[in-house]
Amino acid sequence: MAAPSWRTTPKPQGWGAIRQRILKRDNHACQMPTPLGVCGAWANEVDHITPASLGGSDEPANLRSLCGPHHKVKSSREGGQASAAKRIPRNRPAEQHPGLR
Ligand SMILES: [Zn+2]
Repeated sequence: MAAPSWRTTPKPQGWGAIRQRILKRDNHACQMPTPLGVCGAWANEVDHITPASLGGSDEPANLRSLCGPHHKVKSSREGGQASAAKRIPRNRPAEQHPGLR
């Protein structure tokens, strides 16, 4: 089997069909919980509620539709934060101008 381009967990065989089925089941509505219920935005991604790398299954019960932004948020939650915290502090002392007195 050729190495898949996915980072950690290869998608199951027939993923395309499963994906379509889940999107249809959820009426293409994002299922991310929000304080008001669910997001409900147009969903184009299918997410493992429990990641396959943590033993989550490919059963419909473990799959839900997500909109693009929410899928991105969920997938990059671990990796994305480290770089944002890396800011160069501007604490170079102001130079004294020798001729200004
Ligand atoms: Zn959403």
